[in-house]
Formats: sequence, C-alpha cells, structure tokens
Amino acid sequence: MAFDGLSAVSAADVTSLAAVRALSHLSTSSSTPVPMSQTTLKTSISCTGIGLHTGKKVSMTLHPAAENTGVIFRRTDIAGGNAEIPALATHVLDSRLCTVIGLNAQQSIGTIEHLMSALVAMGVDNVVVEVNAPELPIMDGSAAPFVFLIECAGLVAQSATRKALKVLKPVTVSHGMAEATLLPSATPRIDFEIDFPVAAIGQQAMTFSVSSSAFVAEIARARTFCLIDDIAKMREAGLALGGSLDNAIVVNGAEILNEDGLRYSNEFVRHKVLDAIGDLALAGKPILGHYIGKRSSHALNTTLVKTLLADPSAWTIVDMLPEEIPAAGLPSLARVAAQ
Ligand SMILES: [Zn+2]
Repeated sequence: MAFDGLSAVSAADVTSLAAVRALSHLSTSSSTPVPMSQTTLKTSISCTGIGLHTGKKVSMTLHPAAENTGVIFRRTDIAGGNAEIPALATHVLDSRLCTVIGLNAQQSIGTIEHLMSALVAMGVDNVVVEVNAPELPIMDGSAAPFVFLIECAGLVAQSATRKALKVLKPVTVSHGMAEATLLPSATPRIDFEIDFPVAAIGQQAMTFSVSSSAFVAEIARARTFCLIDDIAKMREAGLALGGSLDNAIVVNGAEILNEDGLRYSNEFVRHKVLDAIGDLALAGKPILGHYIGKRSSHALNTTLVKTLLADPSAWTIVDMLPEEIPAAGLPSLARVAAQ
C-alpha cells in the first residue's frame, strides 16, 4: 500500500487493530494478568512527502520486523545504506532543531521524532523504516499521517512479551529555565508546561495519560510550530527549506499565519507532549513513569533518557501489563479529524 497525504481509514484495518488490542485486554478479567504481546505491522506500507530541512521529496516505507527488533532505520540512498540505525538515545547525533540519529554523520536520519511518537503511542514494538533521504518526510507537521499509515497497515501480535522500562526513582535534568523529570508511576503520564514570550502561544499546560486511543484523539494531530522571525534565520543556515504553512503553524506575535488557524486552542503544548512521547521512545522500550517537562526540548528530553539509562538503580525492565496502557476503544483517526 502507498499513500501520499491523509485520506479515509479503511474500516477493516481499524477493526483489525482494535482486535489486537482486544486480545491484549483479555487478561484483565483473570486473576493473574497476562503480559501484553509485542506487535509489528501486518504489512509494509509507504508514503511520500517533503523533508523539512532539505525541501526534497522523501519516500518512506514501514516494514514488519521480527520480535525484539525494536525500531530500526535503514537509508536506501547511500552506499552502505543497508546499515541499520537503531532508534536509541545512544545514537542521537543532534537534537537542536529535530532529532537526528545515526552511526556516523553519513549514516544518519533526521526528523524522526513524530514517527517515533506515533509508533510508541500506537503500540508498534518492531518495525524497519526504510527511507531514501537524510530525513523523514515532515507530512503535515503532526503525527497523524503516521498514525494513519499504522492504522492502514494493521498490527499483528507476536509471541514475545512486550517489555517496559519502569522508572524506580526520580531523575531530573535541567538547562537554564528548562527542566525535565521522570518519576515512578503505575501508568505512563506526560505533563508539559510551555511559556513563550509570544502572544499567540504564551503559557500553556497539559496533563496527558498515555494510551493509544487518547493519543489519536488528543495529541496526534497537533502540528509543529515556529516563529516567523526564526524562519529567515533557519533559511539563512540552509535549514527548513521544506518548511511551509502546509507543515507547520507559523506565529507572528499574536497572529497565526495559517489560513485555517489552529486545530486546538492549545495546539502548541499538545505538540510538545507529542514530541516528548517521541523523545522518550528513544529509551528503546515504552517508559513506565511520569514525565514532567517545563519548557523542555528534544535535546533536554534526550539528556533525560540518557541520564535515566546511565543509572541502573533508577529503572528496571518489566513485562508490560494491559492495565498499564489503557486503550479501551480505538477512535478512528478519520473520525477524530472530522470532528
Ligand atoms: Zn515536533
């Protein structure tokens, strides 16, 4: 299957995804909870789009992968492109504007954060991402097109148990006014606060209990954003050449320049939640903990993950139980988008 952009989700595919979830939830009625299974995609699925920074056309294909593979990126456009780049914080090369991971400067892939967010939130454990450019397509600047691909491909349960990284004690990192913390928690949760000295954004805060259904309903469609003053600076530096009102909210003081305005009144903080979920996914497993971000960034979130992993007394690996990722009901992205 191949898609360019977002269109209606097939009812059959959504049903199949819901069925996988339902299987995972059978355990809630028994006295001994049965851990969730790992999942992969039912079939390969492709899309094309524009690279945010290069401005060039990018093709991306998500392939099913064996259990315990995790998320692996593979560049098809360079010599030695069959090298596999695991989506792990230890491979982050740069996270100033977007997250770039790689084995080295050549064998690297950028702008992975929105796909990573969609994969972990939708419960895709194992996938190989083939891409023919140095960055993923930006699509509409949100995670919704990637959720759409996952919904269309469908998920299959695998025999291995899904593992989670359970936070055992608080870990905090900070940089200037920014702070990011992970606390122990029975279920995954994200709290985010932003404070931009720009009238259209200002102070926004959100508390989000992570589940696939809530991600689709509340987070996936929130787009990335930038200030109009930053665009000229990025272009001068040869960046954001593919950036446009089609793939980012552009803010000028109190004004939103996008013709259709915002998708949510607090779309900015929702997108920061989306980014944080994608950044935390670079732990290599879903994090069972409570994340609190205050003005945090990709760079600080990556530092948080590395700091957590560097302290073996701060975490442990556990089997993930269904009640730790409540996913009752699966709203179709198409239905959410139509609201
Ligand atoms: Zn983002």
